[in-house]
Amino acid sequence: MATSVTDRLADLETIRRVTDLRARVAAWRQDGLSVGLVPTMGALHEGHFSLVRKSVAAMDRTIVTLFVNPRQFGPNEDFGTYPRTEEADAAALQRQGAQVLFAPNVEEMYPAGAVTTVSVPGIGDILEGSFRPGFFTGVATVVSKLLIQAAPDVAYFGKKDYQQLCVITRMAADLDLPVKIEGCPIIREADGLALSSRNVYLSPDERAKAPMLHQALNDVAAKVRAGGVEAIADAEAAGAEAILKAGFKQVDYVTVRDAANLAPITDVMKPARILTAAWLGRTRLIDNIPLHD
Ligand code: AMP
Repeated sequence: MATSVTDRLADLETIRRVTDLRARVAAWRQDGLSVGLVPTMGALHEGHFSLVRKSVAAMDRTIVTLFVNPRQFGPNEDFGTYPRTEEADAAALQRQGAQVLFAPNVEEMYPAGAVTTVSVPGIGDILEGSFRPGFFTGVATVVSKLLIQAAPDVAYFGKKDYQQLCVITRMAADLDLPVKIEGCPIIREADGLALSSRNVYLSPDERAKAPMLHQALNDVAAKVRAGGVEAIADAEAAGAEAILKAGFKQVDYVTVRDAANLAPITDVMKPARILTAAWLGRTRLIDNIPLHD
């Protein structure tokens, strides 16, 4: 059932309790309304809004979740300093036409005694999973909880976090969660830098260097498209070298992988994804592009 424009511009409701969220969704279901979910950690930008707009356009009701999930941060990572801008986020979500902002606190999400985790071995252990141990278990646990709590028809995720999208797709299928996981395009700045809440950490000098990450991915893609499977190792190495030369401190990986299971590829005609993670000063940036447009 489509909603009118005035209905969509109704006040955004902020919900903090799981029971209240369930009640709200149950009432919508009574009315036969479809529900979209957009999980986020807040500090919202155009990348997030693109997901929200997709949901608002396709679904009768849209819930955006804001939860900086402690379980997906390592002990030396930025949980304490992660940008928190809830008031501005809520105002922006109202303008985007979302109906609910679900912003539980840590105790609501993980009450005392909560120990159950969801892990996705294999695809959750490689790449980001190997550099950030426990990261995908934290992500899969919180996302499965959000999907169970909100019970949406569709949940929207950005390809910016490409491996995360793969892990969540696998998890939802394995757990028979009755939800469609929809992957959405990466939103970039004009110079190619993928939008990220963590970009605020970059100094002006680092910000100037940051687009080289995307440029390096484009160069790897061109080399592999021209040279085939035999060119992959050299293209990956040249990509890493270019990123370091651009002023990044460390490259965790530059790799060409199967777009579905992130395994190394043996056939460049099949859908593939080129993924990277690298440190610019104290900020770790990730990015990825398809091998073929
Ligand atoms: P985060 O708040 O960083 O956890 O991201 C929440 C959701 O927004 C995830 O599904 C991300 O993949 C997505 N997202 C973040 N940045 C972008 C971007 N630049 N383009 C598209 N989606 C994005």
